[in-house]
Amino acid sequence: MKLNERGLLVVLSGPSGVGKGTVRKALFDMYGSDFTYSVSMTTRDMRPGEVEGKDYYFVSKETFEKKIAEGGFLEYNFFCGHYYGTPMEKVEEALLTGKELILEIEVNGCRQVKEKMLDAVTIFIVPPTKEILYERLRRRGTESQEEIEERINKAKAEFGLAYQYDYIVVNDTVANAADRIRAIIRAEHARTKRSIYKYYEMVGDGSEQ
Ligand code: 5GP
Repeated sequence: MKLNERGLLVVLSGPSGVGKGTVRKALFDMYGSDFTYSVSMTTRDMRPGEVEGKDYYFVSKETFEKKIAEGGFLEYNFFCGHYYGTPMEKVEEALLTGKELILEIEVNGCRQVKEKMLDAVTIFIVPPTKEILYERLRRRGTESQEEIEERINKAKAEFGLAYQYDYIVVNDTVANAADRIRAIIRAEHARTKRSIYKYYEMVGDGSEQ
């Protein structure tokens, strides 16, 4: 029995190329019915194999900037030449369902979420070594040489930000990383601050003795 019935807002973050997307997909394959994914909006071009509304909502710069002006994002950032943001209305809808809501965003966006949603659980995903990450970015084949170098430089700066997160998870194997994230979410549900009210409903707070 779960004492905390509200879904958690879980932010998966970390340098570009670390495998956030792959780990997130594995998490959904293993425990999908417990989770909802927050599909981000972006102005970057669609990559081969990506699906509108599943990987991202692909929009123009004008549409994105209009939504910023309307206050329509929980967080957003301009990253390597493109906008990325978390649409507010989806977050509100998802949290009402009681499922865990997973956001997969970069570090600047994560900081904004933490400021607005004090209860959010933030997880920094790191590679086993820096070299593995640089190699992955170079071999991914989805960005130009210039973009790859920009992402590598960004990653170098982002490694130092791990201390801002609630948890650090090493992506040594995708299955291990997904398991660790599941364990973190389970433990977070059991935290006293999340379960104490339901607990008092069940057993009283002891004041009647
Ligand atoms: P990519 O172009 O590789 O899909 O994403 C580039 C970076 O943007 C990744 O680190 C990804 O996690 C991040 N990202 C994706 N969606 C969002 C979002 O909604 N907000 C922010 N701040 N970053 C995002």
